[in-house]
Amino acid sequence: MTQQGYLVDYHVHETYSSDARNSTVESYIKVAEKIGLKEIAFATHFIITGYDKFFGIQEHQIADYVENIKNLDETTDVKLLVSLEVDYFPDEEKRLEKILDDYCFDYVLGSTHYPNDVDIGSRKHAPGFFAGRSLGEACDEFYSFTKMAVESGLFDVVAHLDYWRKFLHLVRDEPVELKDYGTVVYDLFDAMNSHEVGLEVNTSGRRHKHGVQYPIKEFLQAAYASGVDRITIGSDSHVPDTLGYWLPEAVDLLRDLGFNGISRYKDRKRTLHPI
Ligand SMILES: [Zn+2]
Ligand SMILES: [Zn+2]
Repeated sequence: MTQQGYLVDYHVHETYSSDARNSTVESYIKVAEKIGLKEIAFATHFIITGYDKFFGIQEHQIADYVENIKNLDETTDVKLLVSLEVDYFPDEEKRLEKILDDYCFDYVLGSTHYPNDVDIGSRKHAPGFFAGRSLGEACDEFYSFTKMAVESGLFDVVAHLDYWRKFLHLVRDEPVELKDYGTVVYDLFDAMNSHEVGLEVNTSGRRHKHGVQYPIKEFLQAAYASGVDRITIGSDSHVPDTLGYWLPEAVDLLRDLGFNGISRYKDRKRTLHPI
């Protein structure tokens, strides 16, 4: 079956994310039914510490969040999955582990928006991450941090693996190539394989200034060559209008690169959906 026949979106933000306050689960269901989307995995932000701690869902709200999605799942043919986009903080592994074990998530999406406490998704803070060193050196730091996230065992999938490109245009004009990504990224692939952690093709990059999905095609090629074959796809929607955005194209890209399927999850168990 092709993705066109069974379209899924595994990265969607709803009202508990501060940047998606008006985007209710119900409003996404309406769009999903209209465009024929078969599964939505809600992955609202969960930022356990740091200055953006109150930006996502709070720990005491998680039970209601899960219950709301499970209740609404009964009202539609669209399968609704429960996830969180969890920011990784090395000092919080124990607390994160306990919280993630306490609830029935279908899958858990790990994010590294704050490598060593720098907010690389911020116009204000991103330039500092690149200052005074080569892009390869900055990437080595980013991927060392991401590798720790993978090795923590907390996550099923890691989100948007070259999200650092979002505001790179503020410090650099030329487009990036894989050779700019440093060397640690290959250790990351090995860690992903040994810990059975997948990567995500995140199409929000198409809506950002640089206009390319996360990660770039050459990155996906290198991941494939390294044996990484657990892939989810997500629009990273914060409004219903972008639900499913560019996902059929992402599947075409993956198929062209040789990937034979995308991952689906239920109760944190993965199945391969052929493409
Ligand atoms: Zn993110
Ligand atoms: Zn997101």
